[in-house]
Amino acid sequence: MKSLTTDIAIMGSGLAGLTAAVKAAEAGAKVAVFEKRPFQGGGVSNTPMMTLVVRDEQEYKDKAFKVHMEYTNYSADAAMVRSWIDNSSHIPEFINRLGIDFLHVLKFDLDTLGRLPGYGGGFPNGMHIGDYYLLKPQGKGHGAAVICKRMADTVTKLGGDVRFSCPVTGLVREGDKVTGLVATEKDGDELHVNAKAVIIASGGFSDNPQMIKKYTGFTYTNNNCDDGGDVLFNTLPGARLTGDGQQAVWAIGGAQGSMGINGHNLVPGPGIIGNTPWVMKNQMRIIQEQPYLWVNQRGERFIDEDISNNHMAMGTCIASQPGRCAYIIVDEATVRRMEQVGLDHIYFIFPAEKLSDVRGQFEYLINVVGNKHAFMADTLEELCAQTGISLEGLEKTLKAYNDYCDAGYDAQFAKNPAFLRPVREPKFYALRCFCGGYQALGGIRVNGNCEVVDADYEPIKGLYAAGDCAAGNIWGDPPTGGIGVSTISFAHGFISARKAVEHAKAL
Ligand SMILES: Cc1cc2nc3c(=O)[nH]c(=O)nc-3n(C[C@H](O)[C@H](O)[C@H](O)COP(=O)(O)OP(=O)(O)OC[C@H]3O[C@@H](n4cnc5c(N)ncnc54)[C@H](O)[C@@H]3O)c2cc1C
Repeated sequence: MKSLTTDIAIMGSGLAGLTAAVKAAEAGAKVAVFEKRPFQGGGVSNTPMMTLVVRDEQEYKDKAFKVHMEYTNYSADAAMVRSWIDNSSHIPEFINRLGIDFLHVLKFDLDTLGRLPGYGGGFPNGMHIGDYYLLKPQGKGHGAAVICKRMADTVTKLGGDVRFSCPVTGLVREGDKVTGLVATEKDGDELHVNAKAVIIASGGFSDNPQMIKKYTGFTYTNNNCDDGGDVLFNTLPGARLTGDGQQAVWAIGGAQGSMGINGHNLVPGPGIIGNTPWVMKNQMRIIQEQPYLWVNQRGERFIDEDISNNHMAMGTCIASQPGRCAYIIVDEATVRRMEQVGLDHIYFIFPAEKLSDVRGQFEYLINVVGNKHAFMADTLEELCAQTGISLEGLEKTLKAYNDYCDAGYDAQFAKNPAFLRPVREPKFYALRCFCGGYQALGGIRVNGNCEVVDADYEPIKGLYAAGDCAAGNIWGDPPTGGIGVSTISFAHGFISARKAVEHAKAL
């Protein structure tokens, strides 16, 4: 058994853990970071990134706070929301100091807050509460990976210790305070770390099927959703986000915070999702952004389809349908329109204005790759036989829906008439979508100072948590339609470091 003594020990080298490590080291603390993977970066380590910043103006911050609280129907933890919002304005300067620039900043005036879809469309409406900073691509555009690498280097330069392939396996609690942690070194030796404060930043639990089932009720599925599962993630492969921090905290008496999956409609692979999951291999992702006919397994509409580019809303809607799936159905006329005239919703991540060879793409998916969720048929009977959609239900829906299209008025859900496109002309195309998400998040209950609390909401001395592992209560309880986002990881990384250093200095 080996041992090590430090001021601040940090579990996880993703955005939250490394932000806290840089801040604590800059404040003069001795820092040690323990990461279970062989490199830094966490779940986001291969993505470009846009981050939300709430301006440091009182009126702006107050409005942002209120919009977010209203969005969550006041079920969010107000103190956590306030501390995130009040601290996010330091993010751009923090990122710039790492030598990273922004490609673009989307500025939003005070009076627009809460009035536009968040993040340009795909994110919760409660997220339209600030300016969006898009990182300047580096190399192949992996902005977040570069941030994490620069943070890890900064910690090392400041005398900190960053250990990879060194998973934390437990926390040490003595009486009312946490005094360290236990990790396993590369050679398999147990490492006992004595620390004045510990920060947990170990991310979500999207790679832990048992926790997903137990705490969210979903069944984890493989990439083709053909194993009976009903939730699919596009977290990076091998992210190994197995909820270790949550379990370590609960084991020493920390309370359980709210836990959930950030909704995000996804058509499963293969042939669709690339090896970097947010990258799609073809235009299927763009088709499911469109505000055309969506039905559930019973053949019934379930939403004003204009929201089909609001991923969080669509994800949660799909999850509440029978079989936890839904279908977008278009006919040949609409396919022609998407190819020749253009799309109605421009997907903000892959902003194509027109599609090309939709039939060829479906044929490839169905006949070459064997994807089980893309369908093409000459008749409605055939389409229903392939998909399992109720023929009776679909015929009834189409009779009404096609009439709405002719009349230019959607008597069922009052959809914008511009998006009423009938389904009449063979071929018929369908995509089956599941709920999915970037991560399963939450589980550790913290207060607005990022202090981990016990069942009586009393802080456990010396123990802090930041980022996805503790972000659940930012989105309510359960965190419906929420998402783990970098702005929370950065802001709560700052706070957890500040509070941990204050605590360590006071000992
Ligand atoms: C594909 C994708 C794209 C995204 N794009 C955006 C975006 O554009 N904008 C945005 O704001 N947000 C985005 N996000 C969300 C955002 O990246 C996350 O909310 C954020 O990275 C979470 O940071 P974290 O530090 O809490 O967790 P993570 O980054 O997941 O880091 C947790 C770390 O803890 C480590 N760990 C786990 N268990 C242990 C253990 N036992 N011992 C030691 N270490 C352990 C993990 O290996 C990991 O490195 C995206 C997420 C994904 C997956």
